[in-house]
Amino acid sequence: MSRVAVVIPAGGSGRRMGGVLPKQFLRVGGVPVLQRTIGVFHAMREVGEIVLVVPPPFVLRMQAMVRRERFAKVSAVVEGGRERQDSVRNGLAACRTGASIVLVHDAVRPFVDRSVIRAVIGAVRRHRAAVVGVRVKDTIKVESGESPGFYARTIARGGLWAVQTPQGFRYDLLLRAHQEAHRAGFLGTDDASLVERLGIPVRIVPGNERNIKITTPADRKLAEFLLKQA
Ligand code: C5P
Repeated sequence: MSRVAVVIPAGGSGRRMGGVLPKQFLRVGGVPVLQRTIGVFHAMREVGEIVLVVPPPFVLRMQAMVRRERFAKVSAVVEGGRERQDSVRNGLAACRTGASIVLVHDAVRPFVDRSVIRAVIGAVRRHRAAVVGVRVKDTIKVESGESPGFYARTIARGGLWAVQTPQGFRYDLLLRAHQEAHRAGFLGTDDASLVERLGIPVRIVPGNERNIKITTPADRKLAEFLLKQA
């Protein structure tokens, strides 16, 4: 069975949480978030290769971290781009082992469960493309274009999913989706939306709410709490 490549976009340099470091390098429980995220995938038998995408000024520092932590599966540390999508495209181009499946996982989601990752890999083997999601619990309203601050309509809650990462794909499919989106100037907020454009159905794998994206100071507090619970 061919092994899986993982691209970890950690290329964002904006939205610093009060400090001097981008959020993916901040520590939770004393360990940088990116390092925790790499550790989850690195320990999995299914994973054969990991590509890190980091802001250009961090490449050397992250190469040193990879050596120090003995993350032998990290095959490349490459520079990120302006948007997340540019960073993932750079990461895909750097994959070296010829893996037939690639997972893309946000650096800032260190609490992903291995069972969920395995479920995504299984779904990609069967369906070519799969994302992790959780059912939406809140009622979602769409703001009015004419009267900002008022909503125009309510979306029926049944069937709504909040999508997370990992998102997994046949490698060739995701590469093509990125190339075509780039050519067309299409910018999506996740990788699955680029595959959708090609008319390919994407399977949803149920995940859980522990898989938070650490973005705000409140998320960081929640992350410390989740760590204590574990
Ligand atoms: O900015 P956002 O919260 O969507 O970031 C999700 C992930 O994408 C983070 O791990 C961030 O470092 C990464 N990212 C990136 N390149 C960018 C912007 C974000 O790799 N230009």
